Order: sequence, then C-alpha cells, then structure tokens
Amino acid sequence: MIIDGKALAGSIRGDIARKAARLAERGVRPGLAVILAGEDPASRVYVRNKVRACEETGVRSWLFEYAASATQQEILGRIAALNADRAVHGILVQLPLPKHIDATRVLETISPAKDVDGFHAENLGALVAGRPGFVPCTPAGVMRLIEHAGVPLAGRHAVVVGRSNIVGKPLALLLLQRDATVTVCHSKTANLAALARQADVLVAAVGRPRLVTAEMVKPGACVIDVGVNRLPDGSLAGDVDFAHASKVAGAITPVPGGVGPMTIAMLLENCVAAAARAAQ
Ligand code: NAP
Repeated sequence: MIIDGKALAGSIRGDIARKAARLAERGVRPGLAVILAGEDPASRVYVRNKVRACEETGVRSWLFEYAASATQQEILGRIAALNADRAVHGILVQLPLPKHIDATRVLETISPAKDVDGFHAENLGALVAGRPGFVPCTPAGVMRLIEHAGVPLAGRHAVVVGRSNIVGKPLALLLLQRDATVTVCHSKTANLAALARQADVLVAAVGRPRLVTAEMVKPGACVIDVGVNRLPDGSLAGDVDFAHASKVAGAITPVPGGVGPMTIAMLLENCVAAAARAAQ
C-alpha cells in the first residue's frame, strides 16, 4: 500500500478551508506571518509553498523577507510587533536562519499562543507532559499518515531514525503517547539495520538519500519517509530506497507526495486552531 500524503493533505485542506470560512463569517480571518531571512533556495521554495497553501485555504498571509545580513535585533523587533498584532494568529520563522542569528532566541521570542510550528519550549514542554499545545507540523503529519493507513500502534515497536528537535524527538513522544514501544536511532547508534528490522513502524528522518534499504525493513512493516534529499541530477529522493523497500513493506510513503504535503496541512490546521482560540 502506497500511503498517498498528497491526497490526504488535500482532504484535510478542504476541512481547513471550511473552518477558515466559518471563522471569517464571525469576523476572524485566520492569519499567518512568515519570516524568511537569507537566500537558501530550499527555504524559498518551502515558504512559497506555504504562502500559496494559505491563499488556497482562505488563510491570510504576510511574508517578511530579510537579507542574509539582517540583524538579530531586526528579526526580534518584527516578532515583537507580530506578537502584538491581533490580526496575526500564527508566526513562522523559516529555518535555517543565517549563522550569526541565534535561532533558539528567535524561536523563544514568538508568543507560545502563536507558535504554529510548535518549536517554542513551552509547546515542546506541553508535548513532553502530554498537555495540549501546538505540536510540530512534520511529526503531527506523520502521525496522521499512520492513522490514515490504519496501522495500529499500541504495543507495537516503532523505530524512529533521527533525533532532531523538529522531527525525531517530538515524533518519538507522539508515538509513545499512542502506546507504541519506541526506539530512537541516530548517527552513533550501533547496528541500525538490526534495530530497523525489528520495527512494525519505521520512520526515517535523517537527510541521507536511501539510507534505509529493503534489507532493513521487516516484511509488512509501515515505513514513513520524512527525508527530502536533492540528488546531483536535480531529482528528489527520500531517506528510504523506495523502489526496493516498497516490495517488502506493508505500507510506505513516497517522496515526494508523502510527508511533505502533510507538513503544510498541519501548519494550516495549527493556524486555524490558533485563530479559533483567539476568536473565543
Ligand atoms: P537533522 O536535524 O539534520 O537531523 C538528522 C538526524 O539524523 C540526526 O539526529 C542525526 O543523528 C541522524 N543521522 C544522521 N546520519 C545518520 C546515520 N547514518 N544513521 C542514523 N542516523 C543518522 O535533520 P531533520 O531536520 O530532522 O530532517 C531530516 C530529514 O527530513 C531531512 O532530509 C529534511 O530535509 C527532511 N524534512 C522533511 C520535512 C517535510 O516536511 N517533508 C520536514 C522537516 C525535515 P545525530 O543526532 O547523532 O547527529
């Protein structure tokens, strides 16, 4: 079974558009402010896609672009203004930021109530404690894909390859919340292949093209590929060797068309939820 993230994201976006329209009727049009600093070409593409997705779902958006030479003070000043702006319900700072800017300081300046990326320590803390808060978009999207595929988690072994703060770690917590037994692997993990082969649900969030081979997949397992890697010929590849692993897996996401569209759908969902809360 190929898990079609594009189709699922499309149907979620339909629901979001309806919710946004209902809020607009009550005089609250959901609004997302995006801050982009520097010239990273991939970041520009991601931001363009996010802004377009806002337009298509009736979410208002503002894009604040800064040169790579922008100062931290300029960005912090902008965030302070957006925190105070009642028309803005979500604030997103596209990562990576230029090296001279302290990304943690920037993310911690965003009001937790507008932190639709879920990267603020208050929201991450809520996730650890199992309390409500904004959940980071990519891990939230992965959970929805697993749910959509009808893959049970309680009592199953989930192996997450990658331990970043934005994907691997929050995803491990979400899987734990759903009663999976979770193993988190990283670059120092001994015998990655043997651990991966034990997984009923295997998630790759590494950033190494085709690191996960068919031999690392347990027959029938659910395989979710978060990786987005640009190959020298310009094409995109995931972290999983899809051509071979798909012959062994029970369910698998493609790249592109798997996790990527879900990340944007979850961002819009968080933004509309923030607007609904502000409307109350
Ligand atoms: P990251 O911050 O670079 O983290 C990569 C993780 O992979 C680290 O924990 C690292 O271990 C681990 N790792 C590196 N080499 C490894 C190896 N050989 N074996 C096992 N683990 C290894 O990356 P990220 O931000 O989590 O992103 C991961 C991938 O997902 C990237 O391709 C990114 O483009 C993609 N992504 C996609 C979306 C989407 O919407 N589709 C969203 C976010 C990210 P250490 O901690 O030991 O260094």
